[in-house]
Amino acid sequence: MAPDSASRDRAHLIPEGLPQRRALVTAVPGPASQAIAARRAAVVAAGVSSVLPVYVERAGGGVIVDVDGNSFIDLASGIAVTGVGNAAPAVARAVADQAAAFTHTCFMVAPYEGYVAVCEALARLTPGDHAKRSVLVNSGAEAVENAVKIARRATGRSAVVVLDHAYHGRTNLTMAMTAKAMPYKTGFGPFAGEVYRVPASYPLREPAPITGEQAAARATTMIDKQVGADQVAALVVEPILGEGGFVVPAPGFLAALSRWCTEHGVVFVADEIQTGFARTGLMFACEHEGVVPDLITTAKGIAGGLPLAAVTGRAELMDAVHGGGLGGTYGGNPVACAAALAAIDLYEHADLAGAARRIEELAVSRLTALAERAPQVAEVRGRGAMQAIELVRPGTLEPDAALAGRVARQCAQQGVLVLTCGTYGNVLRLLPPLVIDLELLAEGLDVLATAVLEQAGAVAR
Ligand code: PMP
Repeated sequence: MAPDSASRDRAHLIPEGLPQRRALVTAVPGPASQAIAARRAAVVAAGVSSVLPVYVERAGGGVIVDVDGNSFIDLASGIAVTGVGNAAPAVARAVADQAAAFTHTCFMVAPYEGYVAVCEALARLTPGDHAKRSVLVNSGAEAVENAVKIARRATGRSAVVVLDHAYHGRTNLTMAMTAKAMPYKTGFGPFAGEVYRVPASYPLREPAPITGEQAAARATTMIDKQVGADQVAALVVEPILGEGGFVVPAPGFLAALSRWCTEHGVVFVADEIQTGFARTGLMFACEHEGVVPDLITTAKGIAGGLPLAAVTGRAELMDAVHGGGLGGTYGGNPVACAAALAAIDLYEHADLAGAARRIEELAVSRLTALAERAPQVAEVRGRGAMQAIELVRPGTLEPDAALAGRVARQCAQQGVLVLTCGTYGNVLRLLPPLVIDLELLAEGLDVLATAVLEQAGAVAR
């Protein structure tokens, strides 16, 4: 049963007995982590890599505690997943109750209410007040694949257009849609056909300043000339480029693309897998630009850490697919649905969008102050609790990926988990759990700033 709104306090968000502090009690990694790493080397595929060199024992709120007892400040949320915090008590209880009732029947075999309730929540929360339908799947990539299937079936067209710097996943179709070769695509072809790439809006790296509308016209002219608008089933767009570098497009870019899609019968798909669920300070990032997508893909933050993803969209598009055309054994697993309902209750009633805006205020002020001291910081950008700095060689726009890597490693050594991203690998990104204590976040930002200054050799300036 959902708690009443007055009782959705920190007890529903932060696990009991988990001090919200940074504390290093051994070297990083400590002996217990090193022992697991040695076992891992013998059995885990080398193609799977990890950012932190330690192994996790507990996590919650804004911290991750390793098997040696080191407590790290979590500025990653498992790549934007644990927006409600890790092991959020309300989510953990919902998971335990559902697991005790039943763990799986397959919605395609013996359906259950949780799946329907998640689709109701998605219909209510996603942008637009038109009639909507959803299908639930297991991963972000699977959601993107299904959005393409639906758009193709509904339009009878085959081409799919994506943006430069895009990331949409690692399956065969989504590898084709993802821009970056290494490590995502190199050696894994041939890729799916009928995928076309057009320029994004990347304000820092435009040769000359252009408006969002001009950047959209550049993209749609290329589609007209090279693909033909009447061949295009879908234009798939991240409202803020995620893995590509936390690039916020120029104002008006998304709206102009969406208008062009409407004019040409192209399905506008917003991939909100990383930006969704209050991360940017609103429930969905499209809302910042007043854009209503035809289809929206969600995953990551939706279920507080359980694997769940969805495609939600206009009823007439979604229902163009024949019965049995969508689905999968685990899609909308009942435990994942129970977790999602608990997580969504927290997003809505524990003011986590407001929390994202407070994180933005603190992060932007600290990162801007850093940028004034470190000429390597070319830009501070993002929305809400999705903030980044792009690192370059001073006085140029030449990306400095090595510096970003050194900073991330120094942070890890000092008990702060920070991720890199970007086509050029030179962006440090912050994705803290929305429930992080602001004091803990401030401490993490101080460690990050010191690491940037030290690694840039700028500390004495
Ligand atoms: N789209 C976007 C925008 C993403 O950020 C990601 C994951 N980083 C994906 C798709 C793929 O999601 P998953 O890893 O769950 O397949």
